Amino acid sequence: MAQQDDIFKKLISHCKEYGFVFSSSEIYDGLGAVYDYGQNGVELKNNIKRYWWDSMTLLNENVVGIDSAIFMHPTIWKASGHVDAFNDPLIDNKDSKKRYRADVLIEDQMAKYDDKINKEVEKAAKRFGESFDEAMFRQTNPRILENQKKKEELHERFANALNDNDLVELKQIIVDYEIVCPISGTKNWTDVRQFNLMFATEMGSTADGATKIYLRPETAQGIFVNFLNVQKTGRMKLPFGIAQIGKAFRNEIVARQFIFRMREFEQMEMQFFVRPGEELAWFEKWKTIRIKWHQALGLGEKKYRFHDHDKLAHYANAATDIEFQMPFGFKEVEGIHSRTDFDLSSHEQFSGKKLRYFDPEMNESYVPYVVETSIGVDRMFLSILAGSYEEEKLENGETRVVLKLPPALAPVKLAVLPLVKKDGLPEKAQEIMNDLKFDFHCQYDEKDSIGKRYRRQDAIGTPYCITIDHDTLTDNCVTIRYRDTMLQERVPISELGKIITDKVSMKTLLKQITQ
Ligand code: ATP
Repeated sequence: MAQQDDIFKKLISHCKEYGFVFSSSEIYDGLGAVYDYGQNGVELKNNIKRYWWDSMTLLNENVVGIDSAIFMHPTIWKASGHVDAFNDPLIDNKDSKKRYRADVLIEDQMAKYDDKINKEVEKAAKRFGESFDEAMFRQTNPRILENQKKKEELHERFANALNDNDLVELKQIIVDYEIVCPISGTKNWTDVRQFNLMFATEMGSTADGATKIYLRPETAQGIFVNFLNVQKTGRMKLPFGIAQIGKAFRNEIVARQFIFRMREFEQMEMQFFVRPGEELAWFEKWKTIRIKWHQALGLGEKKYRFHDHDKLAHYANAATDIEFQMPFGFKEVEGIHSRTDFDLSSHEQFSGKKLRYFDPEMNESYVPYVVETSIGVDRMFLSILAGSYEEEKLENGETRVVLKLPPALAPVKLAVLPLVKKDGLPEKAQEIMNDLKFDFHCQYDEKDSIGKRYRRQDAIGTPYCITIDHDTLTDNCVTIRYRDTMLQERVPISELGKIITDKVSMKTLLKQITQ
């Protein structure tokens, strides 16, 4: 764990040092859980968004996009249930004065049992070598069985407490399992209380009678209230989906994990409208499509898993998370929810407007059911960085830090490096760059030794570097160096465009999903 903590710390400083992520308002000592993206971060973030957007709107003929406003009529949040129920259970440690989410403290305790089990398995695998039968070991080892039992008991109590909204029981679990504050190490806890996560502000001047409005805590409601606009103007037939990317705001109680939990963040959400009764089949289909989208990035299939919800939200009849193995454990990056007809029906009720679809095949009107896929851009960003960051020991004893980013998402695709700053090499390099810059993000660098320049590009994940040397002036060839293998090859300038496009284009990545 200490090693993992260490990697996470290194990742955070790497993000700052190489212009990916900065604390917001840094010169004023920052603002809690709010972050800015730097020159490389914004490129990576935009590429993630493009990958998601294109996968939704290009690969699915029946998915279209919208961009709705952040401010919405306050009654929307009444109808959606957020005013009454968008709460987290919070608990304070009286000694450290730190605030925690009670559910997260308990989930961390469950993860500890998993850690213990995995350690036993790792130890045994080393001891028994080739002959190790992991499945058998898991079924028979007494220490594993004991930890498994403890975890299951805790899990059951926890799920019941969440489903019953029983705050007293949540506290009791924390007491019974002797969960301590990670800062003070004590068990001196307050009672558990509910805390609403929405930010409120006022619209209009007080003289006019200002209205209390909310910063949206999710983008989904902007889609629901536009459902009929899009269906009618786009002549959409069920099933169809509406996708949206945009900012969301939550006054998170605990926000200590860098961009994993922010107070201002970005979501990519798609609501898929289906016939009532078909929602669970679509839920399964979208689970498959979405996991493929993640796995196409090539960060390793084992880094993802599904985790079904212990407590279904008030609107859902099925829900799962796609979790990624972050340096601090498996954590949610995306939620897939079958939201029934809850939202549209509720908006019908509160607005007094019909939100129905006339189904020509069934010759009847009904409120569609909805399957939602909802992913955080920032969490996706963190998962990609965590999955790509490597410290490699080289043969010469040096360490190179490299981001093995999926090439289509890399902020810079190609670095153009003249070997020396004279003899017409910079001019030749600029000429090549001027030709390629229309197709991909190129960076020109002539400062320092070529080795140092390679390292700088490795650190931001640039998949290709090309070096222009004296021979280039006569043979019109350059040396191309591949980030992951560090292999170098001599190629004609005329072929560069094709070589690079094949690997870095969004098309190449999107094709992986459909295979
Ligand atoms: P959590 O349980 O971690 O608070 P959630 O279940 O409330 O998350 P959803 O409401 O399902 O999250 O939101 C969908 C997605 O939005 C999440 O999977 C996550 O990627 C992202 N997200 C939610 N809250 C935050 C946040 N505070 N900071 C960054 N991303 C977030």
